[in-house]
Amino acid sequence: MLRIYTARARYDAWLVADRLNQAGIRAHVFNQHAQSIVGDVPPDVAQPQVWIERAQDEERARLLLARLDEEAARGGSAQCAKCGEESPANFDLCWNCGAPL
Ligand SMILES: [Zn+2]
Repeated sequence: MLRIYTARARYDAWLVADRLNQAGIRAHVFNQHAQSIVGDVPPDVAQPQVWIERAQDEERARLLLARLDEEAARGGSAQCAKCGEESPANFDLCWNCGAPL
């Protein structure tokens, strides 16, 4: 297992893991509920993280991440009126509760 990404928000971690899995890179999200303890532990430990199962996928995973970063820089995010979670601006539905954005 190899940590490939430390996310700023939960949707961010899930989006990255989803894209990696779609590309055939087995990825998992850890720490997704840890944000409430930020302040007690170093931020790097408390933020949601994406790990990949096979170290040999690292190069492909990093290329994919670079592309996601470019997309995110163009898009921004939108806050859900129902649950308050942020979703990428190009989403039609909230990733968390499914409400229209
Ligand atoms: Zn929502």
